[in-house]
Amino acid sequence: MRSCSELSFEFRQYRRPFRRVLKTKHGTWTCREGIVLKLSDAAGRVGFGEIAPLPWFGTETQAQALTFCQRLPAVLSADNIFSILPTLPTCKFGFEVAFNNLAERPHSPDLETAHCCALLPAGPAALSSWSALWAMGHRTFKWKIGVAPVSTELAWLSQLMAQLPLGAKLRLDANGGLNELAAHHWLEQCDRLGHRIEFIEQPLPPSRFEDVIKLDYRYKSAIALDESVTTLDQLKAHYFRGWRGIYVVKAAILGSPSRLLQFCQDYPIDVVISSVFETDIGRQALLDLAADLKKLLPQAPQRVLGMGTQQWLPNDGLDDPDWEALWQRLS
Ligand SMILES: [Mg+2]
Repeated sequence: MRSCSELSFEFRQYRRPFRRVLKTKHGTWTCREGIVLKLSDAAGRVGFGEIAPLPWFGTETQAQALTFCQRLPAVLSADNIFSILPTLPTCKFGFEVAFNNLAERPHSPDLETAHCCALLPAGPAALSSWSALWAMGHRTFKWKIGVAPVSTELAWLSQLMAQLPLGAKLRLDANGGLNELAAHHWLEQCDRLGHRIEFIEQPLPPSRFEDVIKLDYRYKSAIALDESVTTLDQLKAHYFRGWRGIYVVKAAILGSPSRLLQFCQDYPIDVVISSVFETDIGRQALLDLAADLKKLLPQAPQRVLGMGTQQWLPNDGLDDPDWEALWQRLS
């Protein structure tokens, strides 16, 4: 018979083609691949977790995560789970979430649509896409920039701002793809638009952190770091190098959620929790983390979550809140 501390472990892969190809500075993305984890203990409790790699953000690949899962024994201990190396951040996240879910604590309720930022398609397609999302209740929109010449994109931005109702907020995400001159053009324009632009995300590549600091001093508009802070170690390093702007936290690729909470308790930061296109399991983990952060950082700005991504994914049952049913679909 198994002892109480022994956990039986199973995993299943998933593959979800996007409804439309996602264009970013890192290239086109056609399909979200990941792994669902299932832990069961001797008391019959079950905990699901999810591994959702994003290798162009520096995480392990799907193949590496799969190899890691295949090499694990079918029976694990908590030690196995909490000793996963930081070089496998999405595995670290997935296993910790599965372990925490064994405790069967009540989950946070799903977000109201208005508390969820909707991703617009890049380029001029944004102009014909925001209104359906607005009708669904979204009030914050994210638009990828740095995919066309700056003068062209600034013209699209003017059209978009002329169309968007005054209650709408826009996040601009450059994915590190601007040069310094373009970043100045964008930030000047953001300063003119004032509070209608919530922030500009990762204007310059991670290697140009000192220049981002200078931009942050020079302009009123807020700047968020994303690619610069994909792991918890990077997040800490940027905090200690003086970053007091916004941190986009893609929790599913950052590593251990409990260590993130610990850091935020010691060093309150301004956080936007953001999705990397998880199934309902990863999505719920992000909602729970956001609720924990809200309790921990009551003074911090309560930013809309970067989770309006479901309309990009197929209706394949992997957004089902019944995780046993979700698991069965993967068999
Ligand atoms: Mg981003």
